[in-house]
This record gives sequence, structure tokens and C-alpha cells, in this order.
Amino acid sequence: MKGKKKLAVLFMAAFLALSLGVFAACANEEHSLSYVEEVQATCTEAGHRAYYLCSHCGKLFADENAETELSDEDVTIAALGHDMTHHEAVEATCTEAGNIEYWSCSRCNLNFSDEAGTKEVASVTLPAGHDIEWVNAVEPTVSAEGMLAHYECSKCNTCYEDVDGKEEIDREDLVLAQLVEQAVTVTVEVHDTAGNKVESPDFAAISGELSLLGAYSANQYTGLAVASNGTLELDSIIVGEYTVELYGYRRSTFTVTVRAIK
Ligand SMILES: [Zn+2]
Ligand SMILES: [Zn+2]
Ligand SMILES: [Zn+2]
Repeated sequence: MKGKKKLAVLFMAAFLALSLGVFAACANEEHSLSYVEEVQATCTEAGHRAYYLCSHCGKLFADENAETELSDEDVTIAALGHDMTHHEAVEATCTEAGNIEYWSCSRCNLNFSDEAGTKEVASVTLPAGHDIEWVNAVEPTVSAEGMLAHYECSKCNTCYEDVDGKEEIDREDLVLAQLVEQAVTVTVEVHDTAGNKVESPDFAAISGELSLLGAYSANQYTGLAVASNGTLELDSIIVGEYTVELYGYRRSTFTVTVRAIK
């Protein structure tokens, strides 16, 4: 193809395209222009520069006289992409909040769990707080001290009376003293169930049917024996108050309180 024939084909093609399209063609100076304000690009959305748009033929122009035509590419401002800052993970402690590993964008102020910014996260904070667990009592032995049951933070080892950690307890106050390996003699008073002191109880008759109940543990003494002279003999005992259920004595139940330990 050459010369006039080629021009004619091009003209026909342009005419067809315009007649099939939404916009009609404008002759020069027939454009009906309106100003379209610039839209700034964001991290994820493209924007465009300001331009003049002809509502008749749909062409874009740089000027109000329609002298410089613009393409879509000319006016488009590509999306900016996020401006990421990396944040290392910080573990929360009992008193200070931490955070997950994340990336933050300085432009849109959003946080993401990935550098590419495809997974937005609403919160990156790991709240501060104790990790409180129930700790069972440890009974004292002749070789080691024991400890009362309590709540304790597994991270900072603070001890508490309650699971919510509102009432703190000194660890020292929970310690049960080690059993003392020495023979002791305990003088007891026997009271009947009405609270009356029983004079000259027949301890020999109840030997072997008596057990001491400590405030914390049933096993805070060893070698309990009742002598006929009204004393309890033990191989070892933790100093403290004891209450005893005494079975079999005159078919009644008595309470025995350790009054003194020598
Ligand atoms: Zn036009
Ligand atoms: Zn962004
Ligand atoms: Zn803690």
C-alpha cells in the first residue's frame, strides 16, 4: 500500500473507531472542556494530574485551549507503594507491653505482618501481664523446707493469694520450716467435746490412736508416742500449734492442743 490509498484506509479506520465509540469526534474549536482536578496517588491507588476533559469527544488536554492533547499514561500517577519501616518483635514482660514483628508504613500509617504489605494487622501490641499459675503445697521434710500452696507468676516468680494477682504474698511467709531432727517432749491438755478439761486422762490407754494435725500438714512430726505420765514424745516436730482428733478414748472425741514444746 502506498500514497493516497494508505491515507484513505487510515481515515476509514479512524472514522469507524469513532462512530462505534461512546464519543463523537469533535472538529477543532468544538471541544467542550471541563477542568478535572488532580487526584493524588496513595500507597495502593493510582492518581492523576489535573487535565481538561472534553465531554464530547472524551479527549484529555493539558490546557483550556485544547492545544496539547494528553494520553491516559501522561496524566496517570502510579500508586506510590508503602514506605515500610521494620519493627523487631519485642516480648511482653510482666510490667511492659511488647509487640509482634511488623512493618509500618510512614505514609498511610497502617501496620502489616509482612514486608510486602499484603497482610494488614489491626494491633501489633502484646499486652503486659503476669502469668499466674497455681502452685501445690510442698511438705517440709527433715532435709528440706516446704512451702504453702499459693498462686505464682511463672515469669517473675511473684507469689499471690489470688489467681488475679491482686494480693501479693512475701515468699518468706509461705515457707514451712524444715523438720527438726531432735527428740522433744510435749505437754498436752485434753478437753472433752464440751470444752471441759479432762483431769488425769489415761494416755496409756490411747497410745497409738492419736495423731497430731498441724496447721499446714499432717506430716510435720515423726515418732509420736504417748507416755503414761501424760506427755507426748516425738522424734521431731515443727514448732507451732497443733490440733488433734483423739479417737477411742472413753469412746469420745477429744481435742488436744500442744501448749508448749521443750
Ligand atoms: Zn472534543
Ligand atoms: Zn502505605
Ligand atoms: Zn510476673
